[in-house]
Amino acid sequence: MKITDAQVFVGGPGKNYVTLKVMTDQGIYGLGDATLNNHETLPAAYLRDYLVPNLVGMDPRNSEDIWQLFYRGAYFRRGPVAMAAYGAIDMALWDIKGKLAGMPLYQLFGGKSRDGAMVYAHAAGSDLDALMDSVASYVEQGFKAVRVQCGIPGMPSAGYAVPKDDVGTTPYITDFSGIRPSVEGWDTGRYMRYMPGALAEIRARFGPDLKILHDVHHRLLPREAAELAKAVEPVGLFWLEDPTPAEDQDALKLLRQHSTVPIAIGEVFNSIWDCNKLIENELIDFIRVAVTYAGGITHVKRIVDLAAMHHVRTGFHGAPSHSPLSMAAQAHLNAWAPNFGIQEYLVLGTPACDALFPSEHRMENGMMYVSDAPGLGVDFDETEAERYTYSPGSHPIVRLEDGTVWNY
Ligand SMILES: [Mg+2]
Repeated sequence: MKITDAQVFVGGPGKNYVTLKVMTDQGIYGLGDATLNNHETLPAAYLRDYLVPNLVGMDPRNSEDIWQLFYRGAYFRRGPVAMAAYGAIDMALWDIKGKLAGMPLYQLFGGKSRDGAMVYAHAAGSDLDALMDSVASYVEQGFKAVRVQCGIPGMPSAGYAVPKDDVGTTPYITDFSGIRPSVEGWDTGRYMRYMPGALAEIRARFGPDLKILHDVHHRLLPREAAELAKAVEPVGLFWLEDPTPAEDQDALKLLRQHSTVPIAIGEVFNSIWDCNKLIENELIDFIRVAVTYAGGITHVKRIVDLAAMHHVRTGFHGAPSHSPLSMAAQAHLNAWAPNFGIQEYLVLGTPACDALFPSEHRMENGMMYVSDAPGLGVDFDETEAERYTYSPGSHPIVRLEDGTVWNY
């Protein structure tokens, strides 16, 4: 069996999805997602210019060897661009493998460990009242877990993932007016003084059963993160996400010494080498990598297995930057993983998105149910794809009051 060609498509409804289609001499094709938010043309170019010309002629069944060949063969290893490109190839090869076997991918991993996988939605409000309304709307829809983000009184800008005006779900963070980012302000003191009380009010309103998550988005220093974690302990959060910048694996030691709040981190990680110390030293409770830019199913499965040995559960990234293809790959891992925790889920199922990526994966009452179709269980409509082109976008950058650049 041989790979005969592979094509890269960039575009989609309200997002620049990077979709890889790998063709074989047996008529079976595989699909993968290489979308790297606001940098979509880079993995696309790496695929087109370097990886696809090498891929043609290879046996697609040898997904492990092909992963090793590209990863080790590059010499300059890792990084989100390269890992997103390898991830797309890997997803496509697993898709082909599943179609050859006539099985959904979760069967090739070891079968189902559960029927439905719990997801969390994003509630947000410009102030606490608006956030409460947003949470209530998700609870009414049957969601069992909700991430909560709200505007902070006196903060120079709305805050991470907070709508600028009225109630609502998280707005698209990408600004498609161009590649020059807008600037948001940040004040750690105001955030630290306000957020613990706000989270306590949400708990009081919605009761003990709702799983409440909150994302700090890398904004705090280790000592500040420890102080916040201590302060929010009575709230009983499901998790506190990205309390410190993710590249410092030692930053969470201080927090761990002072708080038992569950910690989730890792949406920006590209490899097991970004999180091995965090996992082995049991400094986190949830690992948030994504199949898209952590090297695909082959590499993420290794991270999941290491995490399982250390009581760390999964909580895969599921921002709108993931196409239905990588969300499907994660749905199969979620169905299998003995250490599944939760899945981030932003509503992908718009009619336009469903038309571009038809599938039978489904959401019901805050649970995701994986498709039983062979492979990933998602198709790609190339005629539909002709409607879309690449549009340059950016996410904001953050500055402190005195102008110092801070962590987005
Ligand atoms: Mg996050």
